[in-house]
Amino acid sequence: MRAPVVSGADKSATDRQTMDLFSGPFFEQARRQFHVIADYLEIPDDERDRLLLPKRAVAVACPIHRDDGTTAVFMGYRVQHHLTMGPTKGGTRYAPDLHMGEVAALAISMSWKCALAGLPYGGAKGGVAVDPHALSKRELEAVSRRYMQELIPFVGAKVDVMAPDMGTNEQTMAWYMDTYSMYHGQTVTEIVTGKPVGAGGTVGRREATGRGVVHLVGRAMERLQLSPGHATAIVQGFGNVGSVTAQTLVQQGVKVIGVSDHTSCYFDKNGLDIPAMIKHADLHGCLRGFSSELEFDPHELLIQKCDILVPAAMERVITEKNAPHLKCRILAEGANGPTTPEADRILAERNGEVFVIPDILCNAGGVVVSYFEWVQDLQQLFWTEPEVRDRLNRILERAFQAVMHRAERDHVPHRTAAMAIGVEKVRRAKQTRGLFP
Ligand code: GLU
Repeated sequence: MRAPVVSGADKSATDRQTMDLFSGPFFEQARRQFHVIADYLEIPDDERDRLLLPKRAVAVACPIHRDDGTTAVFMGYRVQHHLTMGPTKGGTRYAPDLHMGEVAALAISMSWKCALAGLPYGGAKGGVAVDPHALSKRELEAVSRRYMQELIPFVGAKVDVMAPDMGTNEQTMAWYMDTYSMYHGQTVTEIVTGKPVGAGGTVGRREATGRGVVHLVGRAMERLQLSPGHATAIVQGFGNVGSVTAQTLVQQGVKVIGVSDHTSCYFDKNGLDIPAMIKHADLHGCLRGFSSELEFDPHELLIQKCDILVPAAMERVITEKNAPHLKCRILAEGANGPTTPEADRILAERNGEVFVIPDILCNAGGVVVSYFEWVQDLQQLFWTEPEVRDRLNRILERAFQAVMHRAERDHVPHRTAAMAIGVEKVRRAKQTRGLFP
């Protein structure tokens, strides 16, 4: 297999000018990954900035009254990568050290993800630099409403549609929708997706990402002739994506032997009690305190022997340090950007030992069902859960087959194939529309 070249192209003048705005290792990773694809697709240098650099990047200061009567300001961001194929689409992330570079990298990755799945969207991402666990519910509501209010001039159901991501959930989306609607004097459910079902959300959105991960893992297992009843899995992250993935794996007969979140890590080679862990996390907000006997070193978790490894938390956790030691058969990337380009090169050199389901394919279930929610809101016609599942599986199936076909035809890693399909579609749309004026 041809290993991806990770040198990246030289930085262009515009690239250099934007380095201060979009700084940090995650943006650098997105940039380098893009140039690997651009080299493979032989995209001329002068076309690359137009495809890579975000169209819009907005920073907003969000002041709120704290519970103690003081005033605090939290920085909010929104990056809209390209508006060539329709509105932009992507989650909002609440994390203490969030910055423009990370948001831009995630927005770019959303573009390739949406294009690969065939959705009529460009990518976006946003969020607030805040630790959601450090605020009261009232403070969190104030930050969320203020963030949406500051962004009203820049978003819209046909402009940019937000959704949940790390640190946000259905409640956050309900606050966004309500704030936007109050300013418009009418209910605009289609302004965000990932809302509660009772507030214009769709059935199956909350579970969509995890279910999509497991559907694709099933396809990978078929190819590797592994049977779920004999397979083991390790899941890093126990938020929406990690917990639904673990639960769905168990329902398919897979033994989940390791799980971690930002507070603790557990391992049991006989299989963990995932339903009990979900109950514990619902009650306490995290996994801390679940068990003292099963506690495990989180640094060791990813390199334990298992069939299916699912990083479903942070970016950049599979690195050149642990990539040579991964002992899984399938790496299912539930998180965005969990594998660094250096680790990718090592995995490619390991020559098919690890079957990678790249992030933009593996976790696409979330945005696919967000698209269904948006369509249903626009039409005010709601689907049943089997309809949602069936359509989701069909889209994932098509994307999976396309990636496999491309990877086998051109002898390239799955990530290269997946990203190339996405980049090509965006490139074609830009070429067809031409350059205005
Ligand atoms: N935040 C999710 C992602 O990274 C979902 C985005 C969406 O539903 O728009 O794919």
